[in-house]
Parts: sequence; structure tokens; C-alpha cells
Amino acid sequence: MMFQSNSRVVVLTGAGISAESGIRTFRANDGVWENHRIEDVATPFAWERDPKLVWEFYQGRRRQLLDVVPNSAHDALVLLENYLDEFLLITQNVDDLHSRAGSKKLIHIHGELRKLRCETCGQVIEAMNDEHLQNQYVECTQCTDKKLRPHIVWFHEMPFQMNEIYDAVGKCDVFIAIGTSGHVYPAAGLLSVAKDVGAYCIGINLDPPENVSLFDEFHQGLAGELVPALISKWLNE
Ligand code: NAD
Ligand code: ZN
Repeated sequence: MMFQSNSRVVVLTGAGISAESGIRTFRANDGVWENHRIEDVATPFAWERDPKLVWEFYQGRRRQLLDVVPNSAHDALVLLENYLDEFLLITQNVDDLHSRAGSKKLIHIHGELRKLRCETCGQVIEAMNDEHLQNQYVECTQCTDKKLRPHIVWFHEMPFQMNEIYDAVGKCDVFIAIGTSGHVYPAAGLLSVAKDVGAYCIGINLDPPENVSLFDEFHQGLAGELVPALISKWLNE
């Protein structure tokens, strides 16, 4: 596998890349995330039915960001981005570890824990100060809504920036998926889009993902070990 600095590269990451930073993955524990079933905390229906449960669950996830740091896989992707003219990192992760590592060409397809959104007026705010991280709701500063929601794409909601994503994947030369189980659509479908346009597809994951047969190259193991090793090999070839 050869890369030039003008290769168009798209990287898709999932919960597995943040696992070694201490953030737990999702499906890895059978559809249960931090002791909650996905449908109880990560759908718009759950928010309607039991906003307190959903809010406190996400406040826990949001506070955890203060205790974790990017790992060597997040760092290595910054080196790759800096080497390439055309690069896009699409993350399914809602943590902020890619941006804290220094990734710039980055799309959070499923939203960001750092932010809150008002369902009434649409305002999105960065909300990581002490007053935003308590168990009581945060009020909107722009309208009368008393409870902002996590700026997260829940199951049954539309992921962000899909046009931009299909555009980049539809013309990439190399597609790399890291730490993703290939279960959650439409993100999981990006591999077939890349494949269809003839991109060279590389997978890196602890377990063989659902769509493993579509990869031209699959590396099984820890992202924190494999990603820096592979990137340094590609950049030195
Ligand atoms: P997933 O939990 O479905 O799959 C994670 C994959 O990573 C698994 O296949 C597992 O084998 C692999 N993995 C675990 N540890 C690894 C490691 N150290 N190195 C390499 N691979 C490892 O994750 P997903 O595919 O991203 O889909 C889950 C959904 O849950 C996403 O939509 C995401 O928004 C959300 N989620 C996000 C976070 C986060 O932001 N860090 C955490 C949990 C869930
Ligand atoms: Zn508002």
C-alpha cells in the first residue's frame, strides 16, 4: 500500500479508537452503554419519555471528558492529516479526543458531547463550564426553553453533514476505518461507497467488524498500537 501526499484519504473512526483512553464502547457490550440499554438513553423517544434519565446519563458522559486524554491513535491521525493535501476525518464518536489531539479536518457525524442545543430556537452552545455539567437542566439563554438537550444524533435521527461526507468518500483514493463495529448506519455504509468508487480500503479493529470482507487490508488489534505503527510506515515508505 502506497500513499502520496496528494492521495485523497478519508478516515472513519468509532468508539474503539477512544477505548484505550478509557471511554467505553457501545455494541461491544451487547447494545448496552455504561449500564444502559441504547433505546433507554439514546433515542428521541427516550428524551420525551424520561428526560431526566437521558440528561443525567449524558451529563455523566460529558463530565467524563474532563478525566480522559487522547491516545497514540488520535495523535497519529494528526500526523497523517498534516502530511496530506486532501484529508477528511469522520468520527462517530461524540467525545472530543480527536479535536484535542489536534485534528482539524474533522466531522462529528453523530454530534458532540461538549455542546448543548435548544430544540425550540435551535441555538447550539459550547457547554463545558461547571454550571453546565451539573445534574440540573441548563436553560436556553436565547429563548424561554428550560432544558437544552445534548447536541447528539440519537438513533432514529439524521446524522450531520452527510452531503459533505458522501462527497469526500465518493472521490477518495484511500478509505480507512478504525475502531468501528460496522453496525451503525449510515456510517457503516461508507465503506461500500468507498469500495464502489475503487478506493483502497483499510480496516483496523480489535474484532473483525460486520463488513470485514469489504476491506482490501484488515489489521486486527489495538488501535493505540496499530494506528501509529501503520501511519509511520506509510509516511516513511
Ligand atoms: P461500537 O462500540 O459499535 O464498536 C466499537 C468497535 O471497536 C468494536 O468492534 C470493537 O471490537 C472495537 N474496539 C474496541 N476496543 C478497541 C481498541 N482498543 N482498538 C481497536 N478497536 C477496538 O462503536 P461504533 O461503531 O463507533 O458505533 C457505536 C455508536 O456509539 C456510535 O454511533 C457512537 O456515536 C456511539 N459511541 C460513542 C463513544 C465515544 O464517543 N467515544 C463511545 C461509545 C459509543
Ligand atoms: Zn432557545
